[in-house]
Amino acid sequence: MGIDNRVPDALIPNLQALCQHVLEPLRQQFKEPVFISSGYRCPALNSCVKGAKKSQHMKGEAADIYSRQGSKRLREWYLWMVDNLHFDQLIWETRANGSKWIHVSYKRTGGNRQQVLRGRELRG
Ligand SMILES: [Zn+2]
Repeated sequence: MGIDNRVPDALIPNLQALCQHVLEPLRQQFKEPVFISSGYRCPALNSCVKGAKKSQHMKGEAADIYSRQGSKRLREWYLWMVDNLHFDQLIWETRANGSKWIHVSYKRTGGNRQQVLRGRELRG
């Protein structure tokens, strides 16, 4: 898309906190790779992919993750995260074509809401 999506220095600590408190503990628990389909998004990229207007992806606070072991394993990750991790939002996302992923966010500052949501079914 020709968009410069490099992370601004000021947002790197947010991404580090997301890794430290969510992604790395998940990886350690299941001893397998956590694939990230979307991490930081600059505002231009976020609007290109029709992200939410105040998407936490733009603050370096969110990642969309999936497992190459399939949706059953993804479900196990989800349930484990609900019970064991601190996060701001955890959303089970599905597309009409059957693809599934987890959106997870973590706020380094300002407090985490521990919200567990089921995403609206996305089209396409
Ligand atoms: Zn997301």
